[in-house]
Amino acid sequence: IVKYRGINKYFGDHHVLKDIDFDLYPGERVAIIGPSGSGKTTMARVLMTLERPDSGTIEVGGRHLWHKEVDGKLVPADEKHLHEVRGDIGMVFQHFNLFPHMTILRNCTEAPIKVLGLSREEAEARAKRMLEKVGMLDKIDQYPASLSGGQQQRVAIARALVMRPKVMLFDEPTSALDPETVGEVLEVIKEIAREGEMAMMLITHEMSFAREVADRVVFFDEGRIVEQGPPSKIFGNPESDRLRDFLKRFN
Ligand code: ATP
Repeated sequence: IVKYRGINKYFGDHHVLKDIDFDLYPGERVAIIGPSGSGKTTMARVLMTLERPDSGTIEVGGRHLWHKEVDGKLVPADEKHLHEVRGDIGMVFQHFNLFPHMTILRNCTEAPIKVLGLSREEAEARAKRMLEKVGMLDKIDQYPASLSGGQQQRVAIARALVMRPKVMLFDEPTSALDPETVGEVLEVIKEIAREGEMAMMLITHEMSFAREVADRVVFFDEGRIVEQGPPSKIFGNPESDRLRDFLKRFN
């Protein structure tokens, strides 16, 4: 469902993504782990179209994200094209980015009305189902500021799910939370992983969570995928010294 080929990204002369090839298959849950500054967030940002890669291609559901086909050739995509493909990806960031001046319900109905063209009734029905799923149905008339960080993050997850994306991308969804609310957000994500059909990419520093939800774990270091495999292999029998050193920090 997602295909990175030869992706490179520089910030000035800092080479942050080095020839990344990566596939995410339909329904697959992939956890991305690795040291701070290794390029994990940048890898997510190029998929979210927030950052333009310097070379390489990315496909989502068979459609080119950063390029479009003109007369059988790939040319750089324009904003309109990016906007169209972007709808396949749901994102949840470290900071929840809810609209502060809108109620919880409105936060979840804005995009389906404006982007998908649903009626208000349809959007509200869908939003309520998702808010129920994340345990926030009783808060629909409140504003984000009155909720805890964990609750806001659960709303952010519902808001992304309402769009029925093909891929859900979580970028360290718990790293800005108070320790006591981390668990509730991880539980919600686990629940979605258990029942949903969606492919998921989870960038996380929570190793036990990665081990529990992921079908595959990708270890990132210095802008490269150094090692990947099932959680039992990555955590139980790491091959590279770099991964072994990285995992020692969590013991
Ligand atoms: P963390 O786990 O801390 O979030 P990360 O693995 O996600 O780290 P990135 O955020 O992708 O790493 O950053 C990779 C490198 O790129 C870092 O050295 C960072 O300082 C640099 N970087 C990221 N964004 C920019 C930017 N907009 N301009 C310049 N440098 C950047």
